[in-house]
Amino acid sequence: MISALLAVGSSCTNTQQQGMLPDASEGDFEYNNERFADLQMLRYRVDGFEDLTLKQKTFIYYLQEAALYGRDILFDQNGKYNLRIRKMLEDVYVNYQGDREDKNFVAMEEYLKRMWFSNGIHHHYGCEKFVPGFTKEWLQGQTELSDEISEVIFNPNVMQKRVNLAEGQDLVKTSASNYYENVTQEEAEEFYAKQKAAGDTLHPVMYGMNSRLVKTKNGDFIEKKWTSDGLYGAAIQKIVENLKLARPYAEDEKQQEVIDLLVSYYETGDLKTFDKYSIAWVENTNPLVDFVNGFIECYGDPLGLKCSWESIVNFKDLEATKRTELLSANAQWFEDHSPVAPEFKKEKVKGITAKVIKAAILGGDLYPSTAIGINLPNSDWVRAAHGSKSVTIGNLTDAYNKAAKGSGMLQEFAYGKEEIELVEKYGDLTDDLHTDLHECLGHGSGKLLEGVDGDSLKAYGSTIEEARADLFALYYLADPKLVELGLVPNADAYKASYIAQMQNGLITQLVRINLGNNIEEAHMRNRALIARWAYEHGKKDNVMELVKRDGKTYVKINDYEKLRGLFGELLAEIQRVKSTGDFKGAQALVETYGVKIDPELHKEVLDRYAKLNIAPYKGFINPVYTAVRDKDGNITDVTISYTEGYADQMLRYSRDYSVLPLVNE
Ligand code: ZN
Repeated sequence: MISALLAVGSSCTNTQQQGMLPDASEGDFEYNNERFADLQMLRYRVDGFEDLTLKQKTFIYYLQEAALYGRDILFDQNGKYNLRIRKMLEDVYVNYQGDREDKNFVAMEEYLKRMWFSNGIHHHYGCEKFVPGFTKEWLQGQTELSDEISEVIFNPNVMQKRVNLAEGQDLVKTSASNYYENVTQEEAEEFYAKQKAAGDTLHPVMYGMNSRLVKTKNGDFIEKKWTSDGLYGAAIQKIVENLKLARPYAEDEKQQEVIDLLVSYYETGDLKTFDKYSIAWVENTNPLVDFVNGFIECYGDPLGLKCSWESIVNFKDLEATKRTELLSANAQWFEDHSPVAPEFKKEKVKGITAKVIKAAILGGDLYPSTAIGINLPNSDWVRAAHGSKSVTIGNLTDAYNKAAKGSGMLQEFAYGKEEIELVEKYGDLTDDLHTDLHECLGHGSGKLLEGVDGDSLKAYGSTIEEARADLFALYYLADPKLVELGLVPNADAYKASYIAQMQNGLITQLVRINLGNNIEEAHMRNRALIARWAYEHGKKDNVMELVKRDGKTYVKINDYEKLRGLFGELLAEIQRVKSTGDFKGAQALVETYGVKIDPELHKEVLDRYAKLNIAPYKGFINPVYTAVRDKDGNITDVTISYTEGYADQMLRYSRDYSVLPLVNE
């Protein structure tokens, strides 16, 4: 499962300060790259890569090669004509001799860029087929265009949706994704129901996850397995080859065993081996460098059985880990000094080390559009028996935040120069610390009174829990202890996070909600609850104001000290609600402060946001890794660079990592 696409914002750690940060460049590194259609391309940094050992870098090098070789598998999974169309349009794009400003060419270029982004001719999110802005006649003048391909590109009624989930239709027949051939939905369902019934019910494998189901001319059903000598074999062989090259550089024998099982699974297609691999992988929690590589996500199959290919190579964020270890080591001090009533505190608290990773490469269904958190494996019984690995991809979250800097959000919504300066100076730092405090200490603090059922807050439970963790973070961000621990440079830095919290909770997070709707999502409710409660309760002391200027609403904080006091007060109350299982108390807090939106303010905010013209979908350009070799071919170093452009990267991948035939049957 991928968790938490940023736009959805359901992860515990994301979007705290969406759109709250200064300009999007660091030295010559630009987070924002090109923009087209409804898409914004970004870059991410892999800080710390240079400090890895040669062994680790070499390991990553071969794993990222393995990640890139799967790209065409996904293109073909997403639609049987995708590779042919991509190749044709890339040839036109590269060899075009005419005017590159010509409106047909410009439209074709945009179509191709969207196609690269979606790994096919359908929108990556909405699944609808792209409407070409260039004419059939123009394309015929550039290349040989078969009637079959022409229909696929230009006839809006052919292959309308990649995944169709409309009730009452044959979802298999009406979906353009390439997981079934000549098979009806009913036939597919029956085929797999039979397999399931005949198999091990306690430890069921994920039936059908690595094959295309085909009905032959004789009416037989066969599964064409995706293995090194089956369908997609040429690409899988390259993946296996690079996994084997990576193997000697793995951290230890355990990790080598993970690779061996994955290779064996790719070679045999045996699903029991895949489960063994998943178990070995999930139990392999130590290594610095880790990776996902395989048929993983099942969102592309309307029946949810067939898995799309994806890969991510990553390593533990050592900086973030240092911070979280320091906080964890002081967990008892934080618990003892919190403003919560003594009977609700833990006598003995254990800090949790949040796992933050850095992505080194994104491949397949994680590229260019990606997740910021991943939770695997998907098999229910493996999860129940062996657990799952859940990670936050810190450098991607960071890139999203940084990219938002150039968007004009801060300038549009911040009250004045002083606020902008504080956020520009300390926003990054306090954002990270907020996440650390929230994850490592906030969620783990406090206790339920004896006999209180953990589920007594019911539907309000997760909002209250998130508010508790956020308030713990907000309260301690302003504590001198953080300066003492060297986590913040001075006693003013925390103000950036207070500005972010109040502005987001009262105003800017409303941009993610359609006019007329309430706030539904738990993290958003929590932010609204905290901000509005503090605003209302601070009124008598003029702690903060909502200032109206030229028809625009701004948050102005007058007394940061008192605001901290209010956060402490609310933390104590929220902890009481949680510890005593006070459902009515939770309901009153959430319903009063966390749900309803002032329609007038909402409209104003949406109008201001629309004027900023921010692209709704974002994706990433990968860095480029180069192996430096001695005269015998041994790798002596691996370098990383961030200068490759979007089209250049896509064309290079198509040139260097395309080993599949254009037609895969
Ligand atoms: Zn949380």
